[in-house]
Amino acid sequence: MKLNVEIYFRDMRTTVTIDTPSKCPHCGRTMSPLHVGQSTSSERTSVSEEGRFSVIFRCSFEDCLKYFVIEYINDNYESASTVNYTYRPPIKVKLPENIEKVSPVFVEIYSQATVAESEALNQIAGVGYRKAAEFLIKDYVISKNPSDEEHIKSIMLGKVIADYLNDFPKIQALAKSVAWIGNDETHYVRRHDGKDIEDLKKFILSAAQFIAADYDADEALLFTSSSD
Ligand SMILES: [Zn+2]
Repeated sequence: MKLNVEIYFRDMRTTVTIDTPSKCPHCGRTMSPLHVGQSTSSERTSVSEEGRFSVIFRCSFEDCLKYFVIEYINDNYESASTVNYTYRPPIKVKLPENIEKVSPVFVEIYSQATVAESEALNQIAGVGYRKAAEFLIKDYVISKNPSDEEHIKSIMLGKVIADYLNDFPKIQALAKSVAWIGNDETHYVRRHDGKDIEDLKKFILSAAQFIAADYDADEALLFTSSSD
């Protein structure tokens, strides 16, 4: 619907025609919102400046009645376009430094799982963490055994852990724990009750610490052996 609102710009007061929102951002239903009020604009109406202002609405459904604000940009002297708001503050994911050099895909999937978890999508988050761990472990093993890359990619995670991580018993134990709890997140029947997504994350992060430290140590080795 069109609505005329009186806006005070810095240089003049004028009537601007806006499109009112058709959906309530709180309850998601289609409605004709109540117009509650509007802000002034700190800019001029001239072409060189974008005159921005906001309009306050209220959901018309009796069981919602929530307020919300829409921002508009003055296109010309008569009409304005809507600025899209999504309200998704970036989620900070804390991972060990340099881990993205071992497995960039791990960082990507782990971050997505964190977003899913923050949206209370716990089932999806669990599967995501499990998938992230698989990439981390396989990419790490590939970095140690580059000639076996295709083979490592094609075999099951459990076999990778058993066959390739024998020289790193602590990483092997962490990887095994991740694989076991992780499988419970993916499969219909849980086999390791008493361990949950928090344990899964804890083991993944510990494994990532070890792997990142190992990466740094390899760099140091390369550096010290090359300067002899
Ligand atoms: Zn509503």
